[in-house]
Amino acid sequence: MMDLQRVNDYIKKVEQSETTTFLPVGKKFKVGVDLGTAYIVIVVLDEENNPVACEKKAANVLRDGVVVDYSGALNIVKELKAKLEKRLNTELTQCAIAMPAGTDASVRTHTYVAEGAGFEVTNVLDEPTAANSIFQIDEGVVVDIGGGTTGLAILQGGKVIRIEDEPTGGTHLTLVLAGNFHIPFEEAEKIKQDYSRHREILPIVKAVLEKMSGIVNRYIDKTQVNTIYLCGGTCCLTGIEKVFERETGIQTIKPQNPFLVTPTGIAMNC
Ligand code: ATP
Repeated sequence: MMDLQRVNDYIKKVEQSETTTFLPVGKKFKVGVDLGTAYIVIVVLDEENNPVACEKKAANVLRDGVVVDYSGALNIVKELKAKLEKRLNTELTQCAIAMPAGTDASVRTHTYVAEGAGFEVTNVLDEPTAANSIFQIDEGVVVDIGGGTTGLAILQGGKVIRIEDEPTGGTHLTLVLAGNFHIPFEEAEKIKQDYSRHREILPIVKAVLEKMSGIVNRYIDKTQVNTIYLCGGTCCLTGIEKVFERETGIQTIKPQNPFLVTPTGIAMNC
């Protein structure tokens, strides 16, 4: 069973490392570069996996897990890397990367972006497996809902036995809100990220959330899986876990801040 308190405390420290640079243990840094549909995030851990520093930037350079604006992605990774190097007063030379499960075709593009920014790529993971480095569960399913996709990793006996990914994510929720309120995408995105409006918007986006639960339903064997572990920025949505629980009939757990779980898990595997 996952220790939720441990996960919450750890991810909280990663969150704090956006504004506070923590003193590292040892000299080696472990870096995770998460190229996402909505955000690009770089997390730096020390050699004992303690959070050291973190930088992120909203980005529109990927679609459905695929890099559609190479130079845009490259410039953002360079910018975030430079900021972190300035904060740490050292050069960051190696990193791990991840991508939605099953998008092998984009491994090269992701790698080129990281390399173009001056990193040597030491490991390439899939997102839900990276997230499980934080959760450390042996049995169950890790569901990572980002901006563009819903990915899942099914675990049995401590091993990932299946990974899947489908193109439905937070961007689709924003599109539904934009249509509902007749407002531009950017405005809808702001409403979606405003926790005080989550109660109001949940019924509006319910059908999309049910579609996401349906993706999980399709791939899991309910006689084998008894817990769903949520992560990814979209899971910040208050009440999403209730929809999953209702639609799948499986207990659903989410950490306090699901957003930084995957990028931190990537860094752990550098
Ligand atoms: P992908 O993994 O699909 O390529 P990504 O890595 O950019 O995308 P994340 O960074 O995990 O995905 O999540 C981004 C999504 O999370 C966006 O759609 C964003 O709108 C959503 N999001 C972020 N904060 C919140 C919030 N407070 N409430 C609701 N949704 C949020």
